[in-house]
Amino acid sequence: MAAAARGQLFEGLKAFKGKDQQVRLFRPWLNMERMLRSAGRLCLPSFDKVELLECIRRLIQVDKDWVPDGAGTSLYVRPVLIGNEPSLGVGGVTQALLYVILCPVGSYFPGDSLTPVSLLADPTFIRAWIGGVGDYKLGGNYGPTVFVQREAQRQGCEQVLWLYGPEHQLTEVGTMNIFIYWTHEDGVLELVTPPLDGVILPGVIRQSLLDLARSWGEFRVVERQVTMRELRRALQESRVREVFGSGTACQVCPVHQILYEGQHLHIPTMENGPELVLRFQKDLKAIQYGTSAHEWMLPV
Ligand SMILES: *Cc1c(COP(=O)(O)O)cnc(C)c1O
Repeated sequence: MAAAARGQLFEGLKAFKGKDQQVRLFRPWLNMERMLRSAGRLCLPSFDKVELLECIRRLIQVDKDWVPDGAGTSLYVRPVLIGNEPSLGVGGVTQALLYVILCPVGSYFPGDSLTPVSLLADPTFIRAWIGGVGDYKLGGNYGPTVFVQREAQRQGCEQVLWLYGPEHQLTEVGTMNIFIYWTHEDGVLELVTPPLDGVILPGVIRQSLLDLARSWGEFRVVERQVTMRELRRALQESRVREVFGSGTACQVCPVHQILYEGQHLHIPTMENGPELVLRFQKDLKAIQYGTSAHEWMLPV
């Protein structure tokens, strides 16, 4: 009860076993920074992020036989920080529990079959708002989404497309960031994702896709708001190539349909390869399971 009143926050990252049997964490420094930021927002005790990362490394070393090495498999790492002051009332805590759960996970898309998801976009449900805490990984942000997720399933959709504001901006997909690969109204081919304006969770995979795409330099890469009106128009004008979500669990997940204002909008992601989704998957895999040193990977 005290813990519920004083906040809970978590992180999610993965360790991968390379062909050389070396286990490596993917960009864990970004997760440590995000977790420390979350702790500050909840007035939970601070911690040394270098020390926590070292503790996680040692924990994985002890449990290294649990890191699977099949195609697409990994060890999911879930650090949690909860206030557990033995008192009621809302106030800063002086006591908290920090623990880390490890769990071997299989490939999100077994046998390399990229299964696209359908989304319910209903603006009556709001995940996060300017001035709120949607840009922190706090437990309190996720409990209330289960009801909406059920509503999506009731309407035959797999996940929720979270909209925001009177213009119905696209913000996130379930617990993933969202990307659109299209030809913009100005005729330029671009990859666009909503900016970190306070309602978007700053995803590690989101940042990684932006970094990869910018390093290729083949099309415009931009962080900008996108509205449902813009997306619908782009679909009508056949300018949309791919829509996908990004997150640690699936890495990159294609979207093929959006139910919006009673209309099923078909997204031609799969018809278009999905070229970009597959390229991101391939490049991320090469880094994560690669045997050569990469600045994004921390050997355990
Ligand atoms: C965790 C999460 C993401 C994805 O973050 P990654 O660091 O890429 O896994 C995106 N949106 C929400 C709401 C999340 O909770």
